[in-house]
Amino acid sequence: MERTDYQRILREIRREIEPFAREGRAADYIPALAEVDPDQFGICIRTIDGRIYGLERADARFSIQSITKVFSLAMCLWLEGDALWRRVGREPSGTAFNSLIQLEVERGVPRNPFINAGAIVLADVLLRHLDDPEGRFLSFVRALSGNDALDYDDRVARSEREKGYLNAAIANLLKYHGNLHGDIERVLRLYFLQCSVAMSCRDLACAFGAFADHRTPFRFDGVSLTASQVKRINAIMQTCGFYDEAGEFSFLVGLPGKSGVGGGIVAVYPQKYSVAVWSPRLNTKGNSVMGMKALELLTTRTEESIF
Ligand code: GLU
Repeated sequence: MERTDYQRILREIRREIEPFAREGRAADYIPALAEVDPDQFGICIRTIDGRIYGLERADARFSIQSITKVFSLAMCLWLEGDALWRRVGREPSGTAFNSLIQLEVERGVPRNPFINAGAIVLADVLLRHLDDPEGRFLSFVRALSGNDALDYDDRVARSEREKGYLNAAIANLLKYHGNLHGDIERVLRLYFLQCSVAMSCRDLACAFGAFADHRTPFRFDGVSLTASQVKRINAIMQTCGFYDEAGEFSFLVGLPGKSGVGGGIVAVYPQKYSVAVWSPRLNTKGNSVMGMKALELLTTRTEESIF
């Protein structure tokens, strides 16, 4: 059977998305992110059998931001199983990633683990169960990606904390409603550090290989999940991975995925490949302009999507 020529397809896609290279703006509400050169692009595909196809800045590390929420969810499902769903929902929010309104109306139960409120609850869960949550989280992400050199970026985390008024408001609202057990400052410190992890497209494509392959037992650094849990993480990526643009991503790309305000997007094609793309300029919903375009073209060209 002929293998898909992903390298050629990536080169074609790159040429085709060039007209969008100056569209959108890099996130600047986290001051350290505003210092990143916005005109960069990288992409990397990892097939389920381990072949890698990369282009341009595929090995440049960037701030993964909200993509980290998928790693947190995996750890929290391992720690709590279905009990986790008593504290956080699994419905799309249809609102911005940092919205407070829904959280107030729904009395402190975040709609899903991939909006900030949900991920702050996940950080609280990690703190409750683990002696060294920062160390344990990092070693899990290192094991998933197969890269021991990965690290937090303290400067980004500090920069976010200094201006993190909305996330602090979210944490206070959660506390008020009894859905945050730990100390607010402590939970936020962990949350901001998790968002600050610096990874490349190659690291992310490798890490998400584990989510693309639910048939191989998920066991990394002592964290284990059932095949059903892995599939359900993909289901939540499909419905909730792109803030209030989850429907659009599903429509245009047709894969489960997760984006971050650092300009990264990961997506998985179950049993086929995982892909990560990075370009810092974001659309008004907070998703990478070039990243969305590239993935739309990838599934169009290959005629491969889960639908
Ligand atoms: N650290 C970011 C925040 O809390 C993550 C947001 C994102 O990537 O969507 O605002």
